Formats: sequence, structure tokens, C-alpha cells
Amino acid sequence: GEAKLAENKQIAIDVRDAVKRYGDFTALKTISLSIMDNEFFTLLGPSGCGKTTLLRMIAGFEAVTEGAIYLFGDEIANLPPNKRPVNTVFQNYALFPHMTILDNVAFGLEMRGKSKSEARTKAGEMLELVQLSQFSARKPSQLSGGQQQRVALARALAPQPKVLLLDEPLSALDLKLRKAMQLELKHLQRETGITFIFVTHDQEEALTMSDRIAVMSAGEMQQLGSPTDIYERPHNMFVADFIGETNLLEVSVDAINNGRAVCHLGGGHELTCNAVEGVDIGSKVHMSIRPERLFMSENPAETESLKGRIKENIFVGTDITTIVDLQDGPDFVVRTSNSDRGNKRIFEPGTEMYVNMELGAGRLLAD
Ligand code: ATP
Repeated sequence: GEAKLAENKQIAIDVRDAVKRYGDFTALKTISLSIMDNEFFTLLGPSGCGKTTLLRMIAGFEAVTEGAIYLFGDEIANLPPNKRPVNTVFQNYALFPHMTILDNVAFGLEMRGKSKSEARTKAGEMLELVQLSQFSARKPSQLSGGQQQRVALARALAPQPKVLLLDEPLSALDLKLRKAMQLELKHLQRETGITFIFVTHDQEEALTMSDRIAVMSAGEMQQLGSPTDIYERPHNMFVADFIGETNLLEVSVDAINNGRAVCHLGGGHELTCNAVEGVDIGSKVHMSIRPERLFMSENPAETESLKGRIKENIFVGTDITTIVDLQDGPDFVVRTSNSDRGNKRIFEPGTEMYVNMELGAGRLLAD
């Protein structure tokens, strides 16, 4: 992802200090971000955080209250939706039920002034791209949900927009199909080179597909970064908690030496991790530790080690989740990959053991 972005630095969408108010209610509070050409960019956040509002402002369905949006360098406030080189794929595919698949894809092209034969040729190519050529004569009702969604994609891609907006396009599909479509969408984005702006509330979906993710909550952008950035280096509690699973521990920072922070967890337990900017001695903050960064042993390891007792092991196929009770301290969730069971021990409930982590596994959160 990073290398690809470096090659092509042109900004597709530049959102500058954009605010959206509906009457007294502020749906977006001063958002600024740049989306690069060729990028698979995701707006991620819980319901109501404002991601659809931002997408609709880019599409031109909503006016910007304050600030501006630039598309390839041009301010677009006065450009109506149909004049923007932008197309949208909605969650409910909105196909015309009485038209064939081919005509559904060709329709938009004819509306844009292409001749019937030109439109049909192009529509045929698009159906090939989404691997539905053999169904071009069918009606939408004769296709599965996933296939209908691919028709909607083909239709949105046909006029060759520079930017494709996707508003939770996979949420109506069952889990298995959704996973397959995630890979297909990512592949399609690479193949066409079109900038994709994808809206989802599903963090796993965002991590799987995106070059970069903007994590939003309550009308504000919480963090912008690559999937690894967001997952490994969350800036705050919201991001750490919303993305993946984590142990969020209340700690007080007792000392900072050589870039290391010695933290107190209560119950006399102590953990050292890397210091971060904005967290000083005496701070009461949270530490985030991903369950897969913890491991268990009979004797204390040479790294950070805490004594505990096994409460429960939960088998979830690929992993085993273990709940560990620290005396007078918080419970820990430890994840052991099923394939690591040979060298990472699983203990019976009730067993006393140690929970360990490398220094770098704990992440202090500024708020
Ligand atoms: P979801 O995942 O549920 O679609 P979202 O993050 O896309 O959520 P938005 O649809 O952008 O959220 O809505 C953001 C906030 O703005 C919500 O609190 C919503 O109620 C409010 N809102 C959206 N449209 C309007 C409107 N036309 N008038 C008043 N408030 C609105």
C-alpha cells in the first residue's frame, strides 16, 4: 500500500475543515483529510458517527456547512452530483427489476449520452470484469444477493468515474459471501486504479481491504493511518477499543526511564512498556495490550511477567482464548493461536501460572 501511494501522490479528494450541521446538531466537527488517487480509503466508525454524511458531501447529495471539499484540485461546492466524476454504490443495490442485467449496466451510460450499441459493448466489458457475463440476459431477481451487488458495482464502474463511493455495500450479504466480496472489491480496485472510498462500521472489513483508514466517532476523526498503524499504534482509548480486541488496563505511571514507562496496575502488579508522548509521570491512563501479544508460562519469563490463575479456556477454532485472573488485579484475555500450541502452553482452569509480554506489547493511551 505505502509503496503504491508513494508512486502516485496526486490528491483525489481534499476535505478541508469541513463542518456539517443539521440545525443545532453538528454531525461533523471540522474534518480535514486528503484521499490519494488510486487509494482504497475507508471511513470507519460506529453508527451515527457521520461517515455517510461525509460520503454524501463528497457525492454532492449534501451541502458542506463550513469549509470546503476539493476534487483533483477543484473546489466542488457548486458542482451538482451528476457533474462530479464520482459514482456511488449503495447498500440496497437499487437495480431495475424489469430490465436485464446488461440493460441495468448500460442504462447509466445511455443516460450520459452514449449510443445504445456503445453502451451495451461497455456494459458487456463491465460484466466481464465482475465475472457475470454468463448472466447478462437474466433479470435481477434471478441472481443471488452477491451477484446483484456485483451488477451494482459494474453499473457504478461503467461510466469510469475517477472516484467510487461505497456506502456499506456488503452489509446485506452473509458472512462467507461478504468475505469473498471483500477480496473481490479490493482486487477490482487494484485492477481499475479507481479511488475507492468505502464506508463501514465493521473494523475487520476495514483492516482487510484498506490502504488507509479514517476512524471516526461522534462527528470527529479519531485517527488516520494504515491498518497496521491503527491496529498496532492506536492513539486513544476509542481507537484501541473499537479496532480488534484488547486488554484495556487502568494504570498509573510511576516512573519513566530511558523511554520506558513503569506502570502500576493495582493489586501490587507492575508492568513496563514503551513511553509515549503526552503521558507523563503521575498520569492515570490506560494501557492497551492485544490478547495475541500475551503468552503464558509455568515460571516467570524474562520479559514482563505477572502471576495469575486460569479462569477459563475458550476454544474458537483458529485460537484458544484464555481468561486469566490476576490476584487483586484485572482479568486478562490471552489469545493463543491453535497452530502455536506446541510451544505456547495452555493450562487447565485453576492452575497458577504467569502471563507474559514483551516490552513493546503494551501501548499507553493518551486519553
Ligand atoms: P450509520 O452507520 O448508522 O449510517 P453514519 O456514521 O453513517 O451512521 P450519518 O448517517 O452520517 O452516520 O449521521 C450522522 C449523524 O447526523 C446522525 O446522528 C444522524 O442522526 C444525523 N443526521 C443525518 N442526516 C440528518 C438529517 N438530514 N437531519 C438531521 N440529522 C441528520
